[in-house]
Amino acid sequence: MSTTPVDLGGCAHPGLRELWPRKSFDRCFSPRTYVVRARTRHAPVESWLLTNAWLPDTLMPISSQQPPVSTSSAAASGAALGIDVPRVLGRLQGAPGPTLVVVGGLHGNEPAGAVALVRIFARLAGQSGAGVTGRFIGLAGNIKGLARRRRFLGEDLNRIWLPERIAHVRNALGPLEDEEEELAALDRELTRAQQEASGPFIVFDVHGFSGPGNAFVTLDDTLSNRALAFRIPAPCVLGLEEELQGTLTEHFVNAGITSFGFESGQLDDPRSVDRAEAAVWIVLEAAGVLARGWPEVARSRRLLADESRSLPPVVEVRHRHAITSLDQFRMLPGYAGFRPVRAGERLASSLGGDVTAPFDGLILMPLYQGQGNDGFFVVRPVRRFWLWLSALLRRLPVRGTLAWLPGVSRHPSEAGSYVVDTRRARWLALQVFHLLGFRRHVRLPHGFVMSPRGR
Ligand SMILES: [Zn+2]
Repeated sequence: MSTTPVDLGGCAHPGLRELWPRKSFDRCFSPRTYVVRARTRHAPVESWLLTNAWLPDTLMPISSQQPPVSTSSAAASGAALGIDVPRVLGRLQGAPGPTLVVVGGLHGNEPAGAVALVRIFARLAGQSGAGVTGRFIGLAGNIKGLARRRRFLGEDLNRIWLPERIAHVRNALGPLEDEEEELAALDRELTRAQQEASGPFIVFDVHGFSGPGNAFVTLDDTLSNRALAFRIPAPCVLGLEEELQGTLTEHFVNAGITSFGFESGQLDDPRSVDRAEAAVWIVLEAAGVLARGWPEVARSRRLLADESRSLPPVVEVRHRHAITSLDQFRMLPGYAGFRPVRAGERLASSLGGDVTAPFDGLILMPLYQGQGNDGFFVVRPVRRFWLWLSALLRRLPVRGTLAWLPGVSRHPSEAGSYVVDTRRARWLALQVFHLLGFRRHVRLPHGFVMSPRGR
């Protein structure tokens, strides 16, 4: 990260030095974005990212020690403005080892991941020889969306990581749409990082959500994803990727790469930045990029574990309520992530009538914003035994016996994939496929194509 000392005489906030006379300020990225470093009694070094956008009238740190702006006051004071950040938020390199790429702000109204990355790079930059093994790269996702604090401008950047779209932006000769440009730029950085990687390559994608609720981890259920994602002490959600097509993490998992995500909390909650930062610190250690023993990692584990104590460690998605902008979908007030719901419970209203819970479970990501196609999800806890059994089965050569199941046949053209006819096979067959590491790939009129995930 390039930060240059800023002359406060030209600063948009002339009161900065009076407010914090002992702190040092570095302008980073843009005239209205600052990294603040300070020594305090509580921590040897604290760093904050300050922007006019988040702090239009008053100067307050975005920090867990001093919760600065309540959600409502942030909204009232004009937090609709965004943050200006470059594509590469930071890059650190040490002895040969793993490469961890963290993406923040793939949705422009979810800046927590990008802000967290700025704080972490500022912290690591303050260290002499930060002790990094391999590479740690931080990327901003939808830069145009982040600048306007909008989820996206034309289309969802986390739904277009599809082979044909990527081929299109790589080969395009003419102008691209807004999100296509973002896709092309991110793809270039990620491809370069992958080509330069000498060890394991890991992509970690940090998001936020509109309604209240606990932070959680999202992963495509591969064993390599489990090995890292389960280290984050927050509920791990399996199966979201089966409901969403064209996500960044799906793109990498399909290529056999370890890639998973983190939902850090509500969009305008400053604690979402703290949680995003905590998750990245934990993954840095879990991936082997940072050595054990960093106090930030221990503190991060405590922060997330304390919040998640009463929640199941692993859940799976059993239902997605998809919506379009024409549905006039309105979630009823009072729903927060992981709140139990009962079958038939009225959850939302829409043009087509009341929307109810299809069965008992926990609600996930109730939608309280104008943009997006996911009304809510219903999840259920997964027992440890099934996780253990599935890890065991995936190491055994039992996939060849799948075609023996009723209603299951080998795919006529896709090697390794199976066609499940749900008129004959139903739920049990799907469960067996999930246990063996398959995902529902294509919906058919009477069933699914199940395809093997990455490792
Ligand atoms: Zn998001």
